[in-house]
Order: sequence, then structure tokens, then C-alpha cells
Amino acid sequence: MNIHEYQARELFQKFGVASPLGKAASTPEEAATIVKELGAAQIVVKAQIHAGGRGKGTFSNGFKGGVHVCHTADEARHLAEQMLGHALITNQTGPDGRQVNKLLVAEAVDISRELYFAILFDRTICAPMIIASTEGGMDIEAVAEHSPEKIIRIPVDPLLGLQPYQTRKIAAALDLRGSLMTQATKLFLAIYRCFIESDCTLVEVNPLVVTPDGRLLALDAKFNFDDNALYRQSAVLAMRDKAEEDPREVAASEFNLNYIGLDGNIACLVNGAGLAMATMDIIQHCGGRPANFLDVGGGATKEQVSAAFQIILGDQAVKGIMVNIFGGIMDCDVIAHGIVDAARETALQIPLVVRLEGNNVDAGKKTLAASGLALQSASSMQDAAEKIVAAVHAA
Ligand code: ADP
Ligand code: MG
Repeated sequence: MNIHEYQARELFQKFGVASPLGKAASTPEEAATIVKELGAAQIVVKAQIHAGGRGKGTFSNGFKGGVHVCHTADEARHLAEQMLGHALITNQTGPDGRQVNKLLVAEAVDISRELYFAILFDRTICAPMIIASTEGGMDIEAVAEHSPEKIIRIPVDPLLGLQPYQTRKIAAALDLRGSLMTQATKLFLAIYRCFIESDCTLVEVNPLVVTPDGRLLALDAKFNFDDNALYRQSAVLAMRDKAEEDPREVAASEFNLNYIGLDGNIACLVNGAGLAMATMDIIQHCGGRPANFLDVGGGATKEQVSAAFQIILGDQAVKGIMVNIFGGIMDCDVIAHGIVDAARETALQIPLVVRLEGNNVDAGKKTLAASGLALQSASSMQDAAEKIVAAVHAA
């Protein structure tokens, strides 16, 4: 799960991470009111979407830039009118952009240096990793490509946590000396605590800025949270903005289905994440392209199978479906009934190939055969993948 920058600011405040004062506005009037409350000489108005590159983005109405500096309440109101309700297209949003429903109105700070600081969960070392660079404010991917020597990486022992000698090492590498080093240690430790206690997989501060009067501030933050830990992060879960998520994934999560939309045209409905991965691989191997990852779980019900079909068919790109079920906990006949009902309810028009194996498989196969539906049964994964790829190519 991701959150907006204004929500990231709220989290940072809770953990004592220094960042500019600011508040979210949903209307031009609110934006003007916040400017008056802040009483700062310079104000920045920032479009809130779950994507970066906003500064260099363009709105659907032609208005340039998702981050603007201004001075008065009237200017902020005028900027808000250009931004709210329009889609902002950046290098991270795709061609349709994302609709802007909220703005962050914050004090603008003078900047002498822009740095980069992130903590992410590194799956290769199974531990948090700190990434920092003197080249902040820009795409870290570009820095990694053109000047990889400017990126420092410090792994953190998850049992010991981030140590002050490490924060000093990072600060020195970022050329933060004296009082800035003291501030950096405090800030890095606070971000680390926020990362651990909020079950984050990523906290990225870009830019982390040094002001001419010697302050160190987190100007922009991006968060990713571990979805599997959300059950114990109610405050984080409350920040979820479903309008920013793939509607197919939102629908799937309501039925406890693990669904990830992809850009191919063969949908797969599978039980178990490992089998779902293998199914996507074999579709690709046989010359097809998977339209999604979908794991209905170990003990899926008829209702879940039906919901899974609806979600799959809601995707216009889908030209065929491959069902691959191993009945371990699950009864294949329950699944077969679910498939038959769902195919009838949705008046299925596209090729469907079903491979069932395991518990009560014979009854399941009988149910499918007796249904009179135009589906193909398959005897193995390979057989199923070959059949669905051929059927989609023929259509
Ligand atoms: P994005 O990464 O989506 O482009 P940022 O929040 O990083 O958005 O903003 C882009 C740039 O705008 C920053 O690198 C910084 O130079 C400037 N900026 C952002 N917030 C402020 C602020 N509060 N005060 C002054 N400048 C800012
Ligand atoms: Mg940024």
C-alpha cells in the first residue's frame, strides 16, 4: 500500500522527522485558508498523487508542473483551480495520468543542497538497507545508471537496528558536518524508527534538503507498506486511498483474492501463489502472455471463484481464461461447481481451459463435462497452457 505525501508528512511528524509545515486542501478556498494560517513568506502548492516526477509533470488541461511556489492566498487559490480535478501526467503515471483530488499547501523553504535518503527492505540480504546520495531531487534510477559511485548503501542489522556510527558514516558521505551531522543522526534514526514501527517496505525522502540557515528537512516522502502487516497498522490502513489503486485489485481485495493486473491477454485463476507463478511462467513459455496473477487461496469458496471470474472478465484485454487448481485442502468438485456457475452468470464468451488435479478430481471433471459449457479440460499444466494459447491465437 502507498500513501500521499501529505499523509507521509503526518507520519513523519508523529516520529519527529523534521519537515516543512503544511496541510492538505481539497478546494481552492481551503488552499487559500491554509496559506493564511501558515503565515509563511513563500508557499509551495503540490499535487497529491501516488506517483513521483510531479514537478516536471503536465496536467490534462495543459497546465505545467505539479509543484508550484507562490506568495499569497490568492495565488494559491488560482493555482489550486488549475490543478484540482485535473489529471496530472508524469513519467511515472502512464499516459492517462492520475486525477488530483488533494493538494499539499506547505511552507516553501530556501534550498542550498538537495540530497537523497531512503530505507528499503532488501530481500536479498533479508534486512533493511539504507540508500543515500548527494544527488537528490532527481530520479535515483538515473543516478544509479549514470553515476553509480554517487550512491551509498548501508545494510542494517535488523536485530541491532540503525547504529549512530552508521548514521555518522552516512552523514559524512553526504558531506553533512557539525550541527548538520547532529541533525542528520536524529533524522535518520527517526526515519528508521518510523520504517520499522509502521511496517514499511520503503521510505524514500527525495529531496532531503539543507537550507541556507543550516536546517536539514525531509521535503518529499514516498512510503510503501507491507500489505501483510496492515492488520496491525490501523492508522496506516486508514490512509488508504482506493481511488489511487487499480480498481481490479480493489475489487479482488474485497473478496480476499490476491490479484495483480498485468498487460497480457490470458487470464489465470489459480490456487496458491507458487502455482500461480508457475502458471504464468508456463503460459509465457507456450507463447502466450498472462493478463494477471490471481491466487484464490488454499480454501477458496464458490463465491470467491465467482468473484474472481467477474474481476477477470472486467478486463477488456482478456481473450481467454486458464483455470489451474490443485485440490489439496480444496475439493475439486466445489471448484468445478463454482466455475460452471460463474461461466453461466457471466455468459462467458471467451475460451476457457480448466485443469483440475487432486482431492475429488473425478467428481469435478464430471461436473464440468455435464455442464454443457464450451470449456476444454486439460490433463496437465503444459496441456492446459498449450490449449489456451492455441484457443486465444485462433480467436
Ligand atoms: P516530485 O518528486 O514528485 O517531483 P517533490 O516534492 O520532490 O516532487 O518536488 C519537486 C521539487 O520541488 C523538489 O526537488 C524541490 O526542489 C521543490 N520543492 C518541493 N517542496 C518544496 C518546499 N516545501 N519548499 C521549496 N521547494 C520545494
Ligand atoms: Mg521528489
